[in-house]
Amino acid sequence: MKIKLRTFFWKLSDYLCSHEPAPISVVASRDGNLYEIRENDFMRMVVKKDEIHELEPVQEGVFMKAPKIPGSYLSTIIAFFRYFSRKKVEAAIHIYWNRKTRAYELVCPEQVVSIYQVQTFIESISNDDKELVVAIHSHHEMAAVFSPGDDSNDRGFKVYGIIGKLHEQRAEFRFRARYNDSEFYLAVTELFDFEGVKTTNQFPKEWLTRVRTQTEAFERRNI
Ligand SMILES: [Zn+2]
Repeated sequence: MKIKLRTFFWKLSDYLCSHEPAPISVVASRDGNLYEIRENDFMRMVVKKDEIHELEPVQEGVFMKAPKIPGSYLSTIIAFFRYFSRKKVEAAIHIYWNRKTRAYELVCPEQVVSIYQVQTFIESISNDDKELVVAIHSHHEMAAVFSPGDDSNDRGFKVYGIIGKLHEQRAEFRFRARYNDSEFYLAVTELFDFEGVKTTNQFPKEWLTRVRTQTEAFERRNI
């Protein structure tokens, strides 16, 4: 007969209701810990465990699953951001992943830009194969540091990027994978493949039709 040493339970109530004759059990608790419970007819003893050897180690972090994004996309984004950086306003570009074609797509969302923020309007997409995976905005000549405003906006499960110091030859980057307040920073080379990539000052000119400065938007609203 095979002796079952420890039985695992997600809930204490399930453990208490169980009639399984396991001398030792492990129960998960709301506090995130695992507790080992032994009992006989006389008493029940509950001990917090730091290590459960039957379980496998889980490493915290962010792990990329798709191929890296072409570095030329980032060059195009920088060219677009530099155009608006010269006007001292921010701008934004979204990167979609198409799981069917296994390719990335750059999208310039409709946006209202100003010196200190960019408001984007995400189109509802009818294609279930496409998912917005990276949202990047510029901090024009300012540092690439996530602001308190960015922290309150960046709540969805995706990668967020900032490009700053765009007036300098080497722009500054910062990327983070995030949802709610949980985040992990990523190096630009973890996301983009720069092999053979050249810098460019070209970007699709139709993108310009999707950007309005806040003063234009304000005037339009008040006509
Ligand atoms: Zn920002």
